[in-house]
Amino acid sequence: MDIVPPENGLDDMPLLKRRRVSDCAARSCEASRFASSSSAILKHLWFPEGDIVLDIEQRLLKVHRKRLRCSVIFSDMLHIPQPSPSETDRIDGCPSVTLVGDALADWEVVFGWIYQKSDFLAKAVTFDILSGALRISTKYEIAELRQWAVTELLSRWPVDVANMRLNALPHAAEAINLAQECALPEILPSCFYALSVQKFHCSADGGRSHIVLSPNDLRRLIAGREALQDALVRVVIDPLTEPGCYNNASCGTCAPRRVEYWRTRLAPDPKSPWSTWLVRELEQMLRDDAFVGTLCSDCVHGHLSTIRWRHGRLRGAIPGFFLL
Ligand SMILES: [Zn+2]
Repeated sequence: MDIVPPENGLDDMPLLKRRRVSDCAARSCEASRFASSSSAILKHLWFPEGDIVLDIEQRLLKVHRKRLRCSVIFSDMLHIPQPSPSETDRIDGCPSVTLVGDALADWEVVFGWIYQKSDFLAKAVTFDILSGALRISTKYEIAELRQWAVTELLSRWPVDVANMRLNALPHAAEAINLAQECALPEILPSCFYALSVQKFHCSADGGRSHIVLSPNDLRRLIAGREALQDALVRVVIDPLTEPGCYNNASCGTCAPRRVEYWRTRLAPDPKSPWSTWLVRELEQMLRDDAFVGTLCSDCVHGHLSTIRWRHGRLRGAIPGFFLL
């Protein structure tokens, strides 16, 4: 059977929700007959005392309606008066709904959160878990789960690229697609930056970007890499001149060592699987007390000011580098 909302039951609902419920019900109407004939039970999500059957990718799940009420979409749909049982096709005595376009793996993640939340929250978070949770929680408006997924994603791909760490490198290309699919554009600068610091000829994760990203996003990535390379070359060519930074004066004694220091720190390392991770390199230079201690007091000020200036400008410029 299919949860087909009668007209009267929809009258009091907001227009947006009405449309979504109607769409969902219409899809389920067509598909559940097919489900009853050819879909197979998914044993670990078949609760004998459940009161609704979901058909996802031709697998049947028998779950509890009350558990689905964490979703605004399901809550609205289940609130609507249903046709009498004699008018419906039922599976194992329960109404059935086919969820068209959803991946079973995504829903298995979500039911892990719904039925065993403490175990779910205690285990290691993989990208597949994050993407499944975000896709379903966005589509079906499960606010608490979406908030959890967004928080986890932002810890990997923070709004400020200065907070990006090594865990941003795996799955950065997939995260770009996910961000666009699930309305999470704030992670995009870090995702693109994470790809741009990986060398594609090495076997690093970013080397698969061309089969993951759309042509438009691949263009953003290339444009960003070029802009970052330009920024790096400008510094290496003339390390002590920084237009707009007025506190970078250097004495004749410290200047040659400062020039050499910048060039050594920012020189590409052919053996490294990464290109120069400029934002992180600048942060490490700020904390390099061993080198700072070799400068005279005037040059310490100029040196640190120049690093901070470049660091701040780069952080602000990175979204634009990737045409975001
Ligand atoms: Zn000096």
